[in-house]
Amino acid sequence: MAIYLAKKGWKVDIYESRIDMRKIEISAGRSINLALSSRGIKALHEVGLENEILKGSVKMPGRMVHDKAGNTVFAPYGRDNNEYINSISRGDLNKILMTAAEQYENVKIYFSHEVLSVNFDAKTIELKDIITGAIYTVKADLIIGADGANSAIRHSMEKQISGYKSNTAWLDHGYKELSIPPAEGGGFRIPTDVLHIWPRASYMLIALPNFDGSFTCTLFYANEGENSFAALDTFEKFQAFIKNDFPDAFPHLLDLEEEYHNNPVGKLGTLKCYPWKIANSAVLIGDAAHAVVPFYGQGMNASFEDCRILNECIDKYGTDWDKILAEYEQLRKINGDAIGDLAVENFYEMRDKVADPIFQRKRKLEHLIEKRYPEYRSKYALVTFSPDVPYSYAQLQGNKQDTYLMKICEKVATVEELDIEKVFEALKAL
Ligand SMILES: Cc1cc2nc3c(=O)[nH]c(=O)nc-3n(C[C@H](O)[C@H](O)[C@H](O)COP(=O)(O)OP(=O)(O)OC[C@H]3O[C@@H](n4cnc5c(N)ncnc54)[C@H](O)[C@@H]3O)c2cc1C
Repeated sequence: MAIYLAKKGWKVDIYESRIDMRKIEISAGRSINLALSSRGIKALHEVGLENEILKGSVKMPGRMVHDKAGNTVFAPYGRDNNEYINSISRGDLNKILMTAAEQYENVKIYFSHEVLSVNFDAKTIELKDIITGAIYTVKADLIIGADGANSAIRHSMEKQISGYKSNTAWLDHGYKELSIPPAEGGGFRIPTDVLHIWPRASYMLIALPNFDGSFTCTLFYANEGENSFAALDTFEKFQAFIKNDFPDAFPHLLDLEEEYHNNPVGKLGTLKCYPWKIANSAVLIGDAAHAVVPFYGQGMNASFEDCRILNECIDKYGTDWDKILAEYEQLRKINGDAIGDLAVENFYEMRDKVADPIFQRKRKLEHLIEKRYPEYRSKYALVTFSPDVPYSYAQLQGNKQDTYLMKICEKVATVEELDIEKVFEALKAL
C-alpha cells in the first residue's frame, strides 16, 4: 500500500512494532511460507514486484493426498499444470516489500514503533518508541490500519464508535509448525511441486515446499479433548501420535522433538468487523479488517487485493477521501466476509472430504469439465485463479456448483458413467 501511495506522490510513514528483520534475524511471524496466487500476484505486478517475489517460489499445481497406508493421489488445482499456486517465504516477501518501499524517498519505515491508539477526530496516532520507551503523538491526513488481526487501530475504532461490530470466531482447532529438512546433499525428501495433505477426518497435516529443499509442515488438531494438542502433553505421546497417524511423513520429520518443545500451538480465528473506515480519516486493510483461517491460502492474497482496490478508488476519486473510503469499504467488506467463510468451509473440505471417494469423483469430474470447457471454473479456480472475480461471487457460484456435482457423483460408481456434456449444460444453467 505504501508503494501504491508513494507512486502517487504521497508521503508515507510506516510505524512497525517489530525490529528490522533485514538487520537482525527474527521470525517473520506465524507460518514460514505462504501460498501466493493470482489475486496477490495481480497487485504485486501493479507495483512492479511480481518477478522478484516469484523468483524464489516453488510452483504447486496440485495437492498430493496421503492415506494412512502411505498411498498417494494427486489432484490438480486448475485445469492443467499451467495453473498453480506458489509457495513463497514469508520472511523474504517482507524483506523485498520493505526494501522496495524504501526506494521511494517519500516512504519512511519507523521500526520498533508501536501504535498504542488513534484519535480519529484529531487524526492523531499515539506511538511508543520501543527502544527508548518514549511515548509521543503524530498527525496524519489519512491513517491506514495494516496492523494485523490484533489491530490497535481497530481496537481504537471499537472504543470510539458506538455500536462498532467486531467478532472473532475461533476454531476448536489450533496449529503447530513442523518441518522436513532438505535431503542430504540437497534436493527434496518427498515429491516437490505439490502441496501435501495427510487428511485424517477431524485433523490433518499439510506440507508446503520451500525453495531450499525443505518443507514447512503444519499440523491442524483440536486444542482440547481426548484427541487434541492438550492430550499430547509429552514428547513421547506426540511422537507416537505422528508415527501412527502419519507413518510416511514421520521418517522425514527430523527435528520433531525440538519443534514439539519450541513451536507454540497457534490459534485460528475468523475476524469480521464493521465499519472498516471512519469518515475521511482512517481505514483498515488486510487482517486488521478480515483475518481468515489459512485453509484457502488467501489471507495475504486478499490483503494485497485490498491494496489494489483501495488504489483503484484513489484513481477514481483523487483526494476525496470520503468517497474513496466509502467505495473501498462497500467493495471489500462483502468480499472479506466471503473469503472468511470460504476458508472455514475449505478447512472441513481438506480435513474430512479430500479422502472421501465421492469427493474424489467430484474433483475428477470437475477436472474433466474444466479441461473440455475452459469457460467452466471450479470454486477453487474462481477463488484462486480468477483475480477479476469477487470472492462473494466465487462463494455463491462455487457452492451451487459443488452441491450439484456432489449430488450426481453420489449416484455413480465412476465418472465415466456420466455424460459430461449434459453435466456441463446443467452447470451452465446454474
Ligand atoms: C499458519 C498460517 C498460514 C497462512 N498461510 C497463508 C497462505 O498460504 N496464503 C495466504 O495468502 N495467506 C496465508 N495466511 C494469512 C496471512 O498470513 C495474513 O493474511 C497476512 O499476513 C495479513 O497481512 P497483514 O499485513 O494484514 O497483517 P500481518 O501480516 O499480521 O502484519 C501486520 C504487521 O503490523 C505490525 N503490527 C501489529 N500491531 C502493531 C502495532 N500496534 N503497532 C505497530 N505495528 C504493529 C506487525 O508487527 C506486522 O508487521 C496464513 C496465516 C497463518 C496464521
